[in-house]
Amino acid sequence: MNEKSDKKIRLAGKDSVERLEVKIGPRKDVVFGSESGSPVVIAGPCAVESEEQILRIAEAVKKAGAQALRGGAFKPRTSPYDFQGHGEEALRWLAKAREATGLPVVTEAVDEESLRLVADYADVIQIGARNSQNFALLRAAGKTQRPVLLKRGMAQGIDEWIMAAEYIMVEGNMNVILCERGIRTFGNHTRATLDIGAIAVAKSMSCLPVIADPSHAAGDVKFVPPLAKAALAGGADGIIIEVHNDPAKALSDAKQQLDLKQFSELMDEMRMLKLV
Ligand code: PEP
Ligand code: MN
Repeated sequence: MNEKSDKKIRLAGKDSVERLEVKIGPRKDVVFGSESGSPVVIAGPCAVESEEQILRIAEAVKKAGAQALRGGAFKPRTSPYDFQGHGEEALRWLAKAREATGLPVVTEAVDEESLRLVADYADVIQIGARNSQNFALLRAAGKTQRPVLLKRGMAQGIDEWIMAAEYIMVEGNMNVILCERGIRTFGNHTRATLDIGAIAVAKSMSCLPVIADPSHAAGDVKFVPPLAKAALAGGADGIIIEVHNDPAKALSDAKQQLDLKQFSELMDEMRMLKLV
């Protein structure tokens, strides 16, 4: 990024504050980007499939040590014929899972209509890779004043990604968490290429916490644990991981979701390595 465009980053840049902490949940006790605290682990299924499913997964990931719950109610699928999510009903199930476990909820808004619902139910609004330069949606997410988890687009430069965060912040919402989720490269052995370097670069260019999503980058259960550990060793302020009680039967992203035991083992290993 050249000096001229650098000056346009006013809020997400490092000029005013060195590091911004983003606190989520009803008690604001889950903190992203804390200098003293440890990285935050968000876990849960790709999609919320039923009330029983989300409750079961929420209990299990909490027991394993996750601090927040993910799960899609609105799914941005490549094919319009694929499962699109259970919508508002799934948001109600997520709210029940939060009530049962105390875990703050992270879930995606795909358009301005779903954003209004997500802002009502969730603790963190996720803006997905496919919407990372949907400027109207970014501004609308900013206006809600809810914390926003902003995925990096699959072909988005780091400067563009930070500018996308600026669109949220310019509406008075400083609660933005950046999320590196893998970009498109010539590599085809993983679903995307997790850009570990981008985590450090985004942290050096901005005041925002930066987390990583090893699940959508890996696309395969085998590669999720190494990418999760690499991201944390590389300075990520957290990770968001897909976990399912029965991955083979998952309605979306079946190949990349850890089962409950695999997630618990990964948590043990990350604790042993002092990554979380
Ligand atoms: C997701 O997290 O469910 C998702 C669809 O991720 P991405 O936007 O990174 O593809
Ligand atoms: Mn998914």
